[in-house]
Amino acid sequence: MLVFYAILKGQRRHDLAEQTEFDVAIIGAGIAGASLACELSPDVSVLLLEMEAQPGYHSTGRSAAMFVDSYGPPPIRALSRASADFLESPPKGFSESPLLSQRGVIMIARNDQLTSLENMVGDLSDSGGVRRLDAAETEAAIPILRKGYVAAGFANDRVSDIDVNALHQGYLRKFRSSGGIIKTASKVIETKHTLGRWQVTTSNGTYAAKTIVNAAGAWADSIGKMAGAEAIGLIPKRRTAMVVAAPSGVNPDSWPMVIDIDEQFYLKPDAGRLLISPADETSSLPCDVQPDELDVAICVDRIETAFDLPIRRIENKWAGLRSFVDDKCPVCGFDDTVEGFFWLAGQGGYGIQTAPALAVIAACLIMDRSVPQHLLDHGIDLADLAPGRSTLKTDRKENLKRRIS
Ligand SMILES: Cc1cc2nc3c(=O)[nH]c(=O)nc-3n(C[C@H](O)[C@H](O)[C@H](O)COP(=O)(O)OP(=O)(O)OC[C@H]3O[C@@H](n4cnc5c(N)ncnc54)[C@H](O)[C@@H]3O)c2cc1C
Repeated sequence: MLVFYAILKGQRRHDLAEQTEFDVAIIGAGIAGASLACELSPDVSVLLLEMEAQPGYHSTGRSAAMFVDSYGPPPIRALSRASADFLESPPKGFSESPLLSQRGVIMIARNDQLTSLENMVGDLSDSGGVRRLDAAETEAAIPILRKGYVAAGFANDRVSDIDVNALHQGYLRKFRSSGGIIKTASKVIETKHTLGRWQVTTSNGTYAAKTIVNAAGAWADSIGKMAGAEAIGLIPKRRTAMVVAAPSGVNPDSWPMVIDIDEQFYLKPDAGRLLISPADETSSLPCDVQPDELDVAICVDRIETAFDLPIRRIENKWAGLRSFVDDKCPVCGFDDTVEGFFWLAGQGGYGIQTAPALAVIAACLIMDRSVPQHLLDHGIDLADLAPGRSTLKTDRKENLKRRIS
C-alpha cells in the first residue's frame, strides 16, 4: 500500500512538473510574487516564474529588514498595520523562528533639523509607543552618538527587525505544499493574449494562463510594455547598505535603530555588527545594481560625523533597488485596458513589511472576492492602490467601494 502511495505521489509530482496550463502565472518570485502565490495556491493552479536561479536575489534579498509602521505615506502605513498580525503570529508551521524581533527606532535631529522633528512628532503624536526625547535622553539611549551632535530625538518602540528570509521561504514552502509550481532560471521573454488566455514564453519553456501577475519588481514596467499595458511610471531607485564592525568589545544588539530625521543616513545593529546606509535614492535602470563608491564614501562621512565610530573597513556592501511610482504607493489591481493582466508593483522601500496584507488584497481582487474587513479597518482604501488611480473615474471608485462593503 505504502509503495503504491509513493508511486502515486511520485507520479503526481511528475505530472505537476510537466504541467503547462495554469489559472495564474506570476512573474517574479521576490516577496511580492511569493506571498501572492501562497495566498492563491489553495484555490487555483499557480505558476511562479523567476528569471534568477534564486528567488529573492534582487530587492527582497537586499533590504534593511525593518518593520516600521509609521514609515511612508498613509496608505503604506495602513498596509503595514494590516500586515502586523501576520508577522507577529504567522500561521502554525509557517516558520520555525519568530518573523519579528523587537528593535525600536530613534529618529535624531540636529538643531537645524528641529522643524522636521516637530512635524513628525505632530504627525505621530496619536500613535502609541512614541515619545519625544531631549538631547540628554537621546545620547543616553544611543551609546555611540557623538556628544553635542543632536538637539532632540523621537523614539518609536513599535519597530521590529523582520526575518526576511524566514518570511520569504515560509511563503514559498507553503506555496509548494499546496501544489504550486515555481520555475527558476526562467526569464519571461514574451507574452501573448489570444482567445482569453495568455501564452507566456520564458527562456526555459512556454506556459498558458488565464491571468498573469506582474510582480517583477524593478522590471514591472518592462513586463507591462511586453504585455501591451500603459506604463505605471515606475522609477527604480538605488539604495546602498554596508556592514561595519561595532566599536571593539561592544555588542550593539540591544541598541535601537537610529535614523536621521531627514533620512540622510541610518544605522542598525546587525548580529553584533552595524548596518549603515546613506539612505540614497538615485534613479536607476532595472538591473543587478551595485554600490557606487561615492555613496559608500558619503555614508562613511555622515556616520562618522554623527557617531563616535571610526570606520576602518567595510566588511560587506551592497545596493538594491526600491521602485516607486509618483505617489510612492504600490500598484495593485487589474490593468484597465489589458485583459487578464494584474499589477503588483511599486512597493518602494516598504515591500517586506506590507507584503502580508498586500498579498491577501491582491488574491481577493484576482479571485473577485471581498477583501476581509479586518484588513480594511486599518484604513486601506483600494482606490489608493488601483492602477491608473490618478485618473480613476468616480464610477470606478464607487465600484471599488462596493467590493469592500
Ligand atoms: C537597501 C534596501 C533597504 C530596504 N529596506 C526595507 C525595509 O527595511 N523594510 C521593507 O519593508 N522594505 C525594505 N526595502 C524594500 C523591499 O526590499 C522591496 O520593496 C521588496 O523587496 C520588493 O519586492 P518585490 O518582490 O516587488 O521585488 P524583487 O524582490 O526585486 O522581486 C522581483 C523579481 O522579479 C524577477 N523578474 C524580473 N523580471 C523578470 C522576468 N522577465 N522574468 C522572470 N522574473 C523576472 C526578478 O528576478 C526578481 O526576483 C528595502 C530595499 C532596499 C534596496
